[in-house]
Amino acid sequence: MSTGHITIDLDAIIANWRALDKMSKTETAAVVKANGYGLGAGRVAKALAKAGARKFFVAVAEEGAAIRQALGEGVQINVFSGHMRGDTDMIGDLGLTPMLNSIDQISRHFESLPGAPFGIQLDTGMNRLGMEWDEWGAIAEIALAQHPTLVMSHLACADEPDHPMNAFQLDVFHQMTDGISVPRSLAATGGILLGKDFHFDLTRPGIGLYGGAPFTKAKPVVQMDLPVVQIRHISEGEVVGYGNAWQAERPSKVATLAAGYADGLLRAMSDKATFYYGADPCPLIGRVSMDLITVDITDLPEEPHALTLLGKQQTVDHLATAAGTIGYEILTSLGARYTRRTKGG
Ligand SMILES: *Cc1c(COP(=O)(O)O)cnc(C)c1O
Repeated sequence: MSTGHITIDLDAIIANWRALDKMSKTETAAVVKANGYGLGAGRVAKALAKAGARKFFVAVAEEGAAIRQALGEGVQINVFSGHMRGDTDMIGDLGLTPMLNSIDQISRHFESLPGAPFGIQLDTGMNRLGMEWDEWGAIAEIALAQHPTLVMSHLACADEPDHPMNAFQLDVFHQMTDGISVPRSLAATGGILLGKDFHFDLTRPGIGLYGGAPFTKAKPVVQMDLPVVQIRHISEGEVVGYGNAWQAERPSKVATLAAGYADGLLRAMSDKATFYYGADPCPLIGRVSMDLITVDITDLPEEPHALTLLGKQQTVDHLATAAGTIGYEILTSLGARYTRRTKGG
């Protein structure tokens, strides 16, 4: 009872996947990279497979191996980083589908695993992963003759619907892929919300499944409660925490909670985040330290045993804004020290 508690609502993840699926007429995959955005890739993938997801995406082959172990045969597991040196056995033995990003990767794949499934990733302007015009022009005919499962690209600014980059990348993707007879994919969560022009044959939502922006209608997925280790009464003028960063302007009651930046509660939240006791807000005061956080509970009607940081009152995006970051980083930073529980699924 001394560590923080995280509850992951698998039914909410399923509901978010279904809601995103309903927004397009095409197939909806699920992105479960980075351990399912920090929430447990195996559990998340199992719940989504039960709900009907048949295609999964991970960042690297090792993550794909974990998903194959959790789900067994019968689902397609796609790897964004493609076929890297050293991946051949894993890709071959576990039937992973690499999204090949370069002519080098295409050669490696065709030579080491002839006939094995693969997709193609194209760069349409983000300049991160995928083949560019020239490379694709040189290899397209040879690659397409081997029947890729998918040709995909990724949007750089899909969380800003009015950004001109969206239309630009859509146009480049059309120019690079129109007329080919292979399924195409361009949209992650943000791209789904941009509308049907961006949907093509398969969508690849990640953050929206886990309750994060830009899918603002998502159901919250994570509840985080931190136990109170100690409560103390301090006088006006006394200080709290490292660097004396907070000073009481009135006689105050301060709760010390068992979690800190080692648990992914970013130091940038110092003096900015808010905890909740039911509906009552309680400000985080002073600096977040490695294992402890201090909270002003002066205005609460009773002494709490625990306070809530993530839940119905406050989503990952609210907390991210307080810390000057994005929901993705809050979720994937959550450390290993919490007691984790899932419900539903
Ligand atoms: C992470 C990622 C996704 C999922 O993006 P979200 O914004 O989390 O929905 C889709 N495609 C690629 C290539 C990615 O890297």
